[in-house]
Amino acid sequence: MIGDRQDPYGAVVGTRGAYGGRETVVMVARRPNTMSTAGLNRLGLKRKDEAWLHEALSSPTTRFVPLCNGKVCVAGPPASTVLLETGTWEDVWLLGEAEGTTYVAVEIDEDTWAELPVPEGARLASLREVATLLPPLESNMLALAAGLSAWHRTNQFCGTCGAPTRPEAAGHVRRCTGCAKEHFPRTDPAIIVLVTDGDRCLLARGPQWPVRFASALAGFVEPGESLEDAVAREVFEEVGIVVDEVEYQSSQPWPFPASVMLAFRATAATTEITMDPTEIADAQWYSREDVADGIVNLPGSVSIARRLIDDWIAEGS
Ligand SMILES: [Zn+2]
Repeated sequence: MIGDRQDPYGAVVGTRGAYGGRETVVMVARRPNTMSTAGLNRLGLKRKDEAWLHEALSSPTTRFVPLCNGKVCVAGPPASTVLLETGTWEDVWLLGEAEGTTYVAVEIDEDTWAELPVPEGARLASLREVATLLPPLESNMLALAAGLSAWHRTNQFCGTCGAPTRPEAAGHVRRCTGCAKEHFPRTDPAIIVLVTDGDRCLLARGPQWPVRFASALAGFVEPGESLEDAVAREVFEEVGIVVDEVEYQSSQPWPFPASVMLAFRATAATTEITMDPTEIADAQWYSREDVADGIVNLPGSVSIARRLIDDWIAEGS
């Protein structure tokens, strides 16, 4: 029974059937993070198949997913992604296939948006704001679409020779018109870590955050650095604490604009806090009870930070 097996940390060994028409055994977190649920076959092998793409764009089972100035287009409640059945578009980006429907993203401007035959109440929104409201497949697909959109907007020129770049491979490559170098979408890994010391955890507030807000520590992984080393470095740099027993929890696509969040728990080997004032305005140890009682305002449910904190609170109940 594939779906019933568990790994030593309690993660379910589940199945996702998006590839090859058969069940695929994957490790999934005990519950999926927002935007991370798959079920979308990204059709990576079709991206350079011009004949297939041409046919797909005129197929009645293809749906176009509009994006406008970095925002996604949603209708509802209940929230749903605005899907267009037809359109004449210059640049399209293949997102993938799910349950017999092929999805293609298309970037539009606000004038085009105003003229589209969209449902009443349809609006432009930040994916960050609506991700938790959307069905999992849609939030996952829009994470891909929003990430591609941001990447296309900021990679118009070659980083090697400076010449303009042009999209290829159904929007998953940009090729330089000068030196022919291929540029691929980037994803920047960032760690986020809940540091614990017995029955208390360390939460911190960045200088730009509202008063009473507190979250887990986070930072980007540097070149030449393992994830576990990045965890230890960020914690030491930001609050002066040494950690051991760094343990991976789960991950979440975070296309704002181009990250994947890798969540960890770590045990404090030292407990005296020495803040880096450029990064941290306040950092304190909080008891499980105080956090559960709302002594600080926690990040929203869209974030993996909230997942880390909620899971830790639940362990004490
Ligand atoms: Zn170039």
